[in-house]
Amino acid sequence: MNPKHFETNAIRQQTDRTQYSEHSTPLFLTSSFTFPDGETMRDTFAGQGDKLIYSRYSNPNTDEFIRKVCQMEGAEAGFATASGMAAVFASMAAFLKSGDHVLSSRAVFGSTHQILTQILNRWGITYSYVDPEDVNRWHEQVQENTKMLIVETPSNPGLTLVDLEKAGQFAKAHKLIFNIDNCFATPYLQQPIRYGADLVVHSGTKWMDGQGRILGGVIVGNQQLIDEITFFCRHTGPAMAPFNAWILSKSLETLHIRMDRHCNNALQMAIFLEQHESIAQVRYPHLPSHPQYDLAKKQMKLGGGLVSFEVKGGADAAMHFLNGLALCSLTSNLGDSRTICTHPASTTHSKLSEEERLAVGINQGLVRISVGLENIEDLKMDVGNALNY
Ligand SMILES: *Cc1c(COP(=O)(O)O)cnc(C)c1O
Repeated sequence: MNPKHFETNAIRQQTDRTQYSEHSTPLFLTSSFTFPDGETMRDTFAGQGDKLIYSRYSNPNTDEFIRKVCQMEGAEAGFATASGMAAVFASMAAFLKSGDHVLSSRAVFGSTHQILTQILNRWGITYSYVDPEDVNRWHEQVQENTKMLIVETPSNPGLTLVDLEKAGQFAKAHKLIFNIDNCFATPYLQQPIRYGADLVVHSGTKWMDGQGRILGGVIVGNQQLIDEITFFCRHTGPAMAPFNAWILSKSLETLHIRMDRHCNNALQMAIFLEQHESIAQVRYPHLPSHPQYDLAKKQMKLGGGLVSFEVKGGADAAMHFLNGLALCSLTSNLGDSRTICTHPASTTHSKLSEEERLAVGINQGLVRISVGLENIEDLKMDVGNALNY
């Protein structure tokens, strides 16, 4: 039987490499794997058969996790890494060489911005930023040596969307490797490969684990591109630990239910905030006031677990709000069963200049809330109390 539904695959795509027919996949804590004889060992190293060699290359737990993500994203193959940033970096470094140019949406994760601006330039790789909302003008930044397009949608923390269909057509027309960080949507809400993405990257640390326990990352795509990434990662060593893969593989079994609740709570929180007099503006993709609401409805199954809002009164008012929270956590992570509030301008995006921050919509009053799985009435009470504090 070849089930087609997301949930069924998330639960039933298990490794067949168990010894005792365990119903729940066991944890394979081993650095290497043995061979019955020298010939099998030789043949395995020559790429024949399906025996495993070494956990830096592959492991039953990481393979199971990758298989599930591939099913969810509609990808042929993947590689799992120790963190989301290891995945982002490998997805670039496996393909880019000195003299290449990268086109990137301006609204990308903070550390992705650091890789583009502070690390790749050491190796003679240049970049240009484009406006995520204005795909029609991206061609103006394309150069002869442009090789890759990097996109994140929705973005952090501005929740700006990139039109995936247009971006896919653009990448194809200019023969660019279309590389998308799909962490914020998760494969449950949006599958970019359908729109022509070549590489889909995730931080497993966020909603995939969903309980704030581990770091992890994964890259999926077509076999040919993943072969190049696998070569790069096998020899540079950012592999995911089997324990983390075991946790993530189990977590994916409940991703659909958790995301339904995260998104439902987030929408209710967004509506609540929009009606509050201390709030200047609310951003949430499935809120009708979002400037890209129609696009969000088209390409995202639900609005996601994050809401951004601007409190009236700037940095002081934002700090005052955070200090008034009793239930929500103050921490920089997101995608957790616990609701989390962050002030991006002074934390996750403090390394950007004020000008760079404003270009991606981060002003001093902006607060990002990752809405968890607690009862929404309790959350609204806590946030309401903090706003009136
Ligand atoms: C968190 C995050 C990353 C980095 O992931 P880590 O697991 O923390 O390394 C990359 N991209 C996005 C969109 C993220 O939210």
